[in-house]
Amino acid sequence: MAGMMKAAVYRDVDMVVCEEIPVPEIGAGEVLVRIDTCGVCGTDLKKIHTGSHAAPRVFGHEMAGTIAAIGVDVKGFSIGERVMAFHHIPCGVCFYCKKQTFAQCETYKKVGTTAGFEAAGGGFAEYIRVMDWIVAKGLVKVPDDIPFEQAAFIEPVNTCYKAIRMLNLEADDTVLVIGQGSIGVILAALAKRTGATVLTSDLYAERHKVAAGFGLDRPIDARGDVVAEAKKATSSRGVDVVLVAVGADSLITQAMDAVRAGGRVMLFASTQHGTAAYDPTAVCMDEKTLMGSYSASVAIQDEGVELVFQGFRDGSLDLTKLISHRFGLEDCAEAVRLASNPEPGSMKIVFKP
Ligand SMILES: [Zn+2]
Ligand SMILES: [Zn+2]
Repeated sequence: MAGMMKAAVYRDVDMVVCEEIPVPEIGAGEVLVRIDTCGVCGTDLKKIHTGSHAAPRVFGHEMAGTIAAIGVDVKGFSIGERVMAFHHIPCGVCFYCKKQTFAQCETYKKVGTTAGFEAAGGGFAEYIRVMDWIVAKGLVKVPDDIPFEQAAFIEPVNTCYKAIRMLNLEADDTVLVIGQGSIGVILAALAKRTGATVLTSDLYAERHKVAAGFGLDRPIDARGDVVAEAKKATSSRGVDVVLVAVGADSLITQAMDAVRAGGRVMLFASTQHGTAAYDPTAVCMDEKTLMGSYSASVAIQDEGVELVFQGFRDGSLDLTKLISHRFGLEDCAEAVRLASNPEPGSMKIVFKP
């Protein structure tokens, strides 16, 4: 499918420009997808603002759309089918894959979807090329009753679901989720499904209101004393688990103070290099565990997909409620600005290329 298309091209630090670029060519085993919806992820913003990846690139990896063309040797897919594509899929056979630490697999680290230039996701464009190893294991069919805007959450939900699974929560656990942006709400909603009691903290009442739509009914105003509230809810012990869904290092201390002795603190949004302070006796003497979770797990990919589909059907996880703003590619600069500077009323920001 020759021709030109619109794309939000990362040109330099803090600079994303809507341009006309060629529709990507596909080869054997590959698929071309017309993007309907692509969410803006915190990691896209980090790359745009830090210049960690050389320009030009087209970012975006929370995407869903329709197959527009298929290469030779593609089996099981046809033009017109609704799909979402993972941008990372592991090899399945290396040391790290066998240890189920997929994010460290060399194949996983490669990006398998692109709109052109060095592969970087490509979802901020009208079309993406899905490479063969993604078509084989990371291209997911989206049923007709599931809107693209719900399917675009499959990738972020899988990253959150992996974290929740890793925690093995029990029904008598009390969990605090710090931060109620879209990822914080998803983490909290998934934690609640395990039967655990879930407290949520955020600065903005508007976000607590959105969270309430997911059954999150224990909001804490983050302008107050979050640690005191966490203790009040747990006979002064502190919560069993804290999930930190904000990338602010200063919140690690708050999380370590809010968790009980022997409890666990999971960092979910700490993707910027730096040095963070915490009291080492909290880890040694109080036996608190500081841990992290990053990216999705292919081992639970199918479960995560089913969760997104079923959650929409029964209304328990209607993620389209998290979308606060929709932008065309021509407004990419404003979309990036708003996503980077969250306002009380802004939650998930998506492109509708
Ligand atoms: Zn992401
Ligand atoms: Zn591997």
